[in-house]
Amino acid sequence: MQVIPYVSAGRIEGLNRLGVFTLYDLIRHYPQRYNDFGDVTPIALVPIGEKATVLGRVYEVKVKPIRPRMTIIEVTLTDDSGMCYLSFFNQPWLAKQVAAGMMLVSQGIMEHNYGFRRMSSPVITVLDKDQSDSAPSAGIQPVYAANSGISQGWVKRFVNEALQKTKDMLDPLPAHLRLKHGLADRRFAFWQIHHPSSMEDYRKARERLAFDEVFTLQLYLLRRKQSNQAMPSGQAINVQGKAVQGLLEALPFKLTNDQQKAVQEIFADLARTVPMSRLLMGDVGSGKTVVALHALLATADSGRQAAMMAPTEVLAIQYASQLGPYLDRLQVRWAMLSSSTGNIERQGILSGLASGEIKVVFGTHALIEPDVGFADLALVVIDEQHRFGVNQREALRLKGQGVHYLTMTATPIPRSQALMIYGDLDVSEIRSRPRAMAQITTRLLDRQQVGVAYDAIRAAVARGEQAYIVCPLIGQAYESPPDGSEPDHGPEEELLTEYMDHEENLRAAKQEHDFLSQQVFPENRVGLMTSKLPAAEKRQVMEDFRAGLINVLVSTTVIEVGVDVPNATVMVILDADRFGLSQLHQLRGRVGRGDKDGEAYLVSGTNSEDALKRLRILEKSSNGFDLAEQDLMIRQEGDVLGIRQHGKARLRLVQVVRDRKIIEAANKEAAALLDRDPGLSEPEHAVLAWEFKMLTADWD
Ligand code: ADP
Ligand code: MG
Repeated sequence: MQVIPYVSAGRIEGLNRLGVFTLYDLIRHYPQRYNDFGDVTPIALVPIGEKATVLGRVYEVKVKPIRPRMTIIEVTLTDDSGMCYLSFFNQPWLAKQVAAGMMLVSQGIMEHNYGFRRMSSPVITVLDKDQSDSAPSAGIQPVYAANSGISQGWVKRFVNEALQKTKDMLDPLPAHLRLKHGLADRRFAFWQIHHPSSMEDYRKARERLAFDEVFTLQLYLLRRKQSNQAMPSGQAINVQGKAVQGLLEALPFKLTNDQQKAVQEIFADLARTVPMSRLLMGDVGSGKTVVALHALLATADSGRQAAMMAPTEVLAIQYASQLGPYLDRLQVRWAMLSSSTGNIERQGILSGLASGEIKVVFGTHALIEPDVGFADLALVVIDEQHRFGVNQREALRLKGQGVHYLTMTATPIPRSQALMIYGDLDVSEIRSRPRAMAQITTRLLDRQQVGVAYDAIRAAVARGEQAYIVCPLIGQAYESPPDGSEPDHGPEEELLTEYMDHEENLRAAKQEHDFLSQQVFPENRVGLMTSKLPAAEKRQVMEDFRAGLINVLVSTTVIEVGVDVPNATVMVILDADRFGLSQLHQLRGRVGRGDKDGEAYLVSGTNSEDALKRLRILEKSSNGFDLAEQDLMIRQEGDVLGIRQHGKARLRLVQVVRDRKIIEAANKEAAALLDRDPGLSEPEHAVLAWEFKMLTADWD
């Protein structure tokens, strides 16, 4: 950046804070927005009496008192054609904002009085304060992110310098791809995104640069997949062994078609020596767990080991109680490990894993502790995978060699987004639910109407059914940062804040529990579940709830993920506006699991129309895929699930829903290109290879 004139230390620091470190960063410091002033007319040519936009430099600013407590500000504006006055009544503060030398755009009706042209109370926009020697320009003006270290005007100037300095840069995209997708030339794109000559040119420029963003990300993800698959996995897994066969008889139900297809896809992967990298995507209640069980059993049949990691202890415990009986029956040795496993038990498990006697282990992130070692880890299953940081997932995977990798998510996402986040994974999808009969009705209630929800609980309990009440997240309202910026913390920390209940949340949940058990449901058994309960107690509470000994379970969001109690039919979510749509959808998926329909009540005291609008979407739609799309439309793109994983990739332009076509195309082309030239070593790809290396150097 030193090649740019006037780059002082302070301004460099300001730029760095904007994430700009190189010339290349500068040209990709795209405008936040544009002011479109339309056609600018030279001052002298504006017909008198007509509305017009003029652009000029302020010559002087005068404050004229005309009567007591009445002032006029008179700004003299000049351009190459002439001058006019801009007058403002009783806006004394303007005198502080407008000063001689500034470039202004003024929109208003041009009048003529006392021999001078004048606009009375026009709408004005100060273009840039420091750029006193720039040529007046009109039309669409870029507005950049700036800060106390570097002003808007300097950003603009530096960007322009950088555009000049980089104008001979070659287009990295092979010409035939550009033609095929009708993409603009890169130099044109960079210039036009900063200085659009029309909205149409802006659109073309944005499309081209968005394509480049996705293309780079896809190349990166696909190459990562290549290198993962280059690791030898040793032997293939036997997918037709004794336990797998035995499961057919042991299961009380038949797999749905989607489940069968997913099992086949997974088995096909496991039967190869190339490690599997697969994502199993399916809405809540679609039956992913039993699909994963097939993979666990096949691994055990092959005499090797499998680990299944869940983000919460409650969920790990649930695996143990759901899948454990099958494993026992099929004579597969298994264990469950979490941070609250007692020391003696833990030592036993560790030695069983190290010797290879234990074939299947369920657990939380306790599984990634350094002293947990495996004799022959061949399969890793990660549930609710977005709850883990990349490093945590990798840590488990690296406990074996060329480990097969299956991740699962119940947060359904549009395919375009899946490509962005999981371009390096193959995707299996379960779309249908095993029990399509059960329906969930969702109702939004004002806080004053909470009694309606409690009545529904009473009615359910009277029918012998059960209910959940989910307490609000205190101090952690669902909100994306107003500037759309990335949060400062990494995914690991995120996991902790998300899964350790806040002190305040705990207190609130306890209070709510006391209140509900004593005042609202004195005749029922009301249980309490939080993440801070000791494991044994958690297990007890879950067992009691499962067994029907607890009628109403008051909980913090620990139940969000994966809990499965078919007899629970009512869920009340307090302060629902504090949760994201997908999260609410997951929560309500806990009811209506059995053959009985479910009811969800979203209670909110919010006045915000936006928040209410968001919640009403849930009343109308019960399709997770629909919701995910709607959620995406509403939320800040930067905050979209998982994109954070690519925080370094800094997706500036691409928008997951809107740019679906671009994403699909970039994914396809990146795959095709790597097929032909896996190392990007052909001369035709030299520029691309260089740029790719530069951009992705610090992404891992
Ligand atoms: P999720 O995909 O949300 O993890 P689960 O795996 O917990 O869903 O399954 C939800 C419930 O559906 C469980 O009680 C499970 O036993 C049951 N289930 C799974 N597959 C079938 C099937 N093919 N037929 C009937 N019930 C099924
Ligand atoms: Mg699940």
